[in-house]
Amino acid sequence: MLRNDQLDQWDHDHFFHPSTHLGQFARGELSNRIVTGGEGVYINDRDGNRFLDAFAGLYCVNIGYGRQEVAEAIAAQAKELAYYHSYVGHGTEASVTLAKMIIDRAPANMSRVYFGLSGSDANETNIKLVWYYNNILGRPEKKKIISRWRGYHGSGLMTGSLTGLELFHKKFDLPFSQVLHTEAPYYFRRKDLSMSEADFVAHCASELEAMIEREGADTIAAFIGEPVLGTGGIVPPPAGYWAAIQKVLKKQDILLIADEVVTGFGRLGTMMGSTHYGIEPDIITIAKGLTSAYAPLSGSIIGEDMWKVLEQGTDENGPIGHGWTYSAHPIGAAAGVANLKLIDEMNLVANAGEVGNYFNAAMAAALGDHDHVGDVRGDGMLCAVEFVEDKYDRTFFDPTRKVGPSIAAALLKRDVIARAMPQGDILGFAPPLCLTREEADTVISATADAVKEVL
Ligand code: PLP
Repeated sequence: MLRNDQLDQWDHDHFFHPSTHLGQFARGELSNRIVTGGEGVYINDRDGNRFLDAFAGLYCVNIGYGRQEVAEAIAAQAKELAYYHSYVGHGTEASVTLAKMIIDRAPANMSRVYFGLSGSDANETNIKLVWYYNNILGRPEKKKIISRWRGYHGSGLMTGSLTGLELFHKKFDLPFSQVLHTEAPYYFRRKDLSMSEADFVAHCASELEAMIEREGADTIAAFIGEPVLGTGGIVPPPAGYWAAIQKVLKKQDILLIADEVVTGFGRLGTMMGSTHYGIEPDIITIAKGLTSAYAPLSGSIIGEDMWKVLEQGTDENGPIGHGWTYSAHPIGAAAGVANLKLIDEMNLVANAGEVGNYFNAAMAAALGDHDHVGDVRGDGMLCAVEFVEDKYDRTFFDPTRKVGPSIAAALLKRDVIARAMPQGDILGFAPPLCLTREEADTVISATADAVKEVL
């Protein structure tokens, strides 16, 4: 085993960490953490610390850490056949079985799964398929994609463009010109505080409609959105939002992509977030909860109507020119099959609804009255606490005060991991779906103490 000082030196000198302040890390101003193990909702680090991970890694370890069933399925697959590709009709029992299991869990009109490795590449696939679809239908001008401010759809060239967070655009020459951003369904941050929730929903829908009219519906291919805004602040939509948005899209013949990378496979207390909110998508993006991150795997679930056009496209043009070497990788597929079985066996979807809703209500009860807590919101195993300078005027802290990161750090001292969301003073929670009420109580009382320490 490596000596700690050796490992730290190599880490600071050679490891390019994502989403990290590179200068601070290289200079040692930002310390590293070497994670060594995990069980259930807990992880351990090299220094002997044990943390309750109330963000499930990056909202992905939905079944919890250390589940031997999945580890064994991965090992068995690796021993039998670590790799074969899925081009030109090839596959494995695991990949075919997983496709069937996903369709069984998806809304009724969904029929095919294209496998990728990450949420980002799945969304890149989606946009290519949407463009291909419109070309086959003889509508070459219909190509723009509408996303929302504060939406998160990945870090690729197109998906980073779709992401509506400035941090992911700055100095990268994004977003691409084919991407348009519309209003986020973020009632708490509405500009006009006198607006009712219903008026705000009508405003979001009319902003969308105005954008479509301005650009021309014949230039707009698709709308992409997460059922619950995730990285943009963990914001469940106001009541009626999805119905109002879908009405506009249907009228204008615009496809809907539901990005369920976070909400897929149980997080909201239903198997899919689309079902939870009455969303009828043409494509669904899945990743994270598909394997609970035991192996990298993502997917684009394609609706039957769209599939027919893709088939027609290959009849006219030959095989589809889109493929990844690792699409439907057998090890990822084996992890996915074992993970989805375990979600059923452990009754995790129901647990996410029950314990998640308890978690949200108890968090609101513990913190809602605090002078600097402006909003406690969530749905299922997603929760956010948003801090404000002045609750009554709803003014926000100066970002240089770093209130969100300070509270996350105070919470870490109490052995609980939450995420300071990248924009605004928002503490995000997305625990593994196996969280118990007792573990929920531990997170909430530690959060209340951490808030008291900082504010
Ligand atoms: N879509 C959503 C909704 C996400 O939350 C994420 C990642 O957090 C992605 C896409 C991108 O997934 P990945 O990081 O696997 O590329």
